[in-house]
Amino acid sequence: MRDLNLTSEYENCLICPRKCGVNRINGERGYCGTGPDPVVNIHMLHQGEEPPITGVRGSGAVFFEGCSLKCIFCQNFDISRGPTSKGTSYAPGELSDLYLDLESQGAHNINLVTSGHFIPSIRESLKTAKRNGLKIPVVYNSGGYESVDSLRTLEGLIDIYMPDMKFFSPELSGRLAGAPDYFEVCSKALDEMFRQTGPSVIGDDGIMRKGMIVRHLMLPGKLFDTKKILDYLCGKFGNDIYISLMNQYTPLEYKYKDMHLPDFLKRKLPHGHYAAAADYLSLLDQTNAFVQEGDASGDELLPNFKN
Ligand code: SF4
Repeated sequence: MRDLNLTSEYENCLICPRKCGVNRINGERGYCGTGPDPVVNIHMLHQGEEPPITGVRGSGAVFFEGCSLKCIFCQNFDISRGPTSKGTSYAPGELSDLYLDLESQGAHNINLVTSGHFIPSIRESLKTAKRNGLKIPVVYNSGGYESVDSLRTLEGLIDIYMPDMKFFSPELSGRLAGAPDYFEVCSKALDEMFRQTGPSVIGDDGIMRKGMIVRHLMLPGKLFDTKKILDYLCGKFGNDIYISLMNQYTPLEYKYKDMHLPDFLKRKLPHGHYAAAADYLSLLDQTNAFVQEGDASGDELLPNFKN
């Protein structure tokens, strides 16, 4: 039987900024394409996150299916379109057991990857896990398109927010993610996330305890958009947060027949654009930053999703 509090939030779903208003309990589906039960594709000790999240033993990543953003170039395209036939549905209590299992395997943290469309269930799963002894930090890993009201319900449960800030231009976010309001929504979400965690703290062991890492994946030909985002993040938060500048954009059309990319996204980053953005970041005096060495594009680092 489903918890009544959870049921009401899914009955008229306003959980994310899409505000579809559908009844997910009765089988209706909104933009994210998912029902009320969180669907997990894989969970694993993930070695590919930023160093203070990965540590030596790995981050306890839980990859949820579906997404409320669905960028057309998604690097997790396999599982972001909606639930797959290979995903497993979990009740909040079962999710809590999964977190405790990852902790017992040595995970440095629990890393919830794209779980925003399941926030009511995530909240309950975390409360149960903490009651049952979960000690490691919880990382909320997100595309950045989140509702402030929903984020507020996670207060006290999340130690580290790790959102993307993907787009500055409304034209770009409208075209690539159907969300012309992306920057406006994301900037408010980041304010709320930072309000909850405060400035970042990394322990003597190099593992992050609390705070915020904002990721930005550079897109081919969009250096100007990247610079506007870096200006914003450095001006607003400076070294109270970490910025992770990513060069690993990979056109994945060869892999997914349903992926239809505009011409400018059918190539990797132009030579020199990543170095220019990294230089720009240092000119802004941002020392709390992660930059990638060499060409990190390609699908080798992507998890092997079930589909
Ligand atoms: S969580 Fe899904 S159904 Fe609910 S508002 Fe967002 S996209 Fe729509």
